[in-house]
Amino acid sequence: MHPTDFTLRGAIEALNEGLLTSVELTQAHLDAITALNPRLNAYVTVTAEQALAQAKASDARRAAGVAGPLEGVPLAIKDLFCTAGVRTTAGSRILDNFIPPYESTVSGNLLRDGAVFLGKVNLDEFAMGSSNTTSAFGPVENPWSRANDPDTRLVPGGSSGGSAAAVAARLALGATATDTGGSIRQPAAFCGIAGIKPTYGRCSRFGIVAFASSLDQAGPVARTVEDCAILLRSMAGFDPKDSTSADVPVPDFAAACARGVKGLRIGVPKEYRLEGTPPEIEALWEQGLAWLREQGAETVEISLPHTKYALPTYYIVAPAEASSNLARYDGVRFGRREKGADLKDLYERTRAAGFGAEVRRRIMIGTYVLSAGYYDAYYLKAQKIRALIKRDFDQAFANVDAIVTPATPSAAFGMDEKQDDPVTMYLNDVFTVTANLAGLPGLSVPSGLDAQGLPLGLQVIGRAFDEETVFAVGNAIEQAADFTALPRLRAGA
Ligand code: GLN
Repeated sequence: MHPTDFTLRGAIEALNEGLLTSVELTQAHLDAITALNPRLNAYVTVTAEQALAQAKASDARRAAGVAGPLEGVPLAIKDLFCTAGVRTTAGSRILDNFIPPYESTVSGNLLRDGAVFLGKVNLDEFAMGSSNTTSAFGPVENPWSRANDPDTRLVPGGSSGGSAAAVAARLALGATATDTGGSIRQPAAFCGIAGIKPTYGRCSRFGIVAFASSLDQAGPVARTVEDCAILLRSMAGFDPKDSTSADVPVPDFAAACARGVKGLRIGVPKEYRLEGTPPEIEALWEQGLAWLREQGAETVEISLPHTKYALPTYYIVAPAEASSNLARYDGVRFGRREKGADLKDLYERTRAAGFGAEVRRRIMIGTYVLSAGYYDAYYLKAQKIRALIKRDFDQAFANVDAIVTPATPSAAFGMDEKQDDPVTMYLNDVFTVTANLAGLPGLSVPSGLDAQGLPLGLQVIGRAFDEETVFAVGNAIEQAADFTALPRLRAGA
């Protein structure tokens, strides 16, 4: 077995049993990155020296009998998390020289628990996108390809495309990611791995480059549901440095995976049966529900009546918050600076040179919906609908324990497809934005393949702060699906 083939849990066991060292495990991943990253472009920055030093220190701690829960495990960090002394770009030219002097709370929690960081992984610029094609550092390639069309290069999804591609191709055992409208769940589904967006407030946002602050959440991607559970336990926790961080206990999520689904009521929202969804995705959804029934759950149709407003609501709220958050990139305090004749000229030149087309579009939409004449008509209206969407979920969860839907309306698409019209790209998020608007946990589980041999995911949405039930349901689907297919591009292949 190639060392990069371990699951995260398997690697921890192997390290505990002394079958290999963290230095060996880390070196195997660095070698895999050297071999495959020139093609995949998943990593923006590889911190090989630092990784090996961390691995060596980790092996020493283990030898001294003080191993943390993630002792010696090599991970990839989305380049939206500030890492002390390591360049953090947010996928943008405007931050291409930004070296944060501090560590994000989430990445710091992982280091506290013994993790090794291989480097920083690619993403859509400022996490705006569903294809990882808006990155200033070039697109990421999905390690999967269509069986009958292996030459068409596919997107890994976005915005956490580097995280998902790196984990699927075995260039890391797990990765951090963030999800504002689907950026953990959609790339996980496109790359045949698992990923969870936890409840809003579960993970601290301190030190994560902000996109839309009321929607942004950090979460893990990994090759199994249980691996996500292990990572989330380390990432999560109250942080006084984030005023929206929730002061609630962090349970043993991995233990919850094995709970089973007997007696659980699973909601199936009828509004998610969208016209135009490929029949394979409909069929997989039915199959997933059948698997849960076979394991003792009951499935019931529910209604989330305001679902059809979720996408337009998201694409008002998210750009509005983004336009405000991105005002800080002015060329004065940090990041890129262009020369200007005066201060205003400096701002304008810096922002024009630093931001890509999608980011500029969002800033323009955001400032428009927040402007004096349109605030009531768009932004305030969107906030009201957001409250109704949340109320739909509250009512549904009075009657069910979890909700199961498809994760995405399609499998991974080609790098040149869906690029001509931004709204076509926005439709990718139709099944995922609702959980962000309502602040609820959502897990994507690799559940099957389409006719082209590409992975498809199912989504499990749960009550706020009930990730344990979400993990139990996700684990049950994963066990039944027995997803063993592998991408063509991967280490050790
Ligand atoms: N695709 C969505 C967007 O472009 C979601 C992005 C995200 O979750 N960061 O806004």
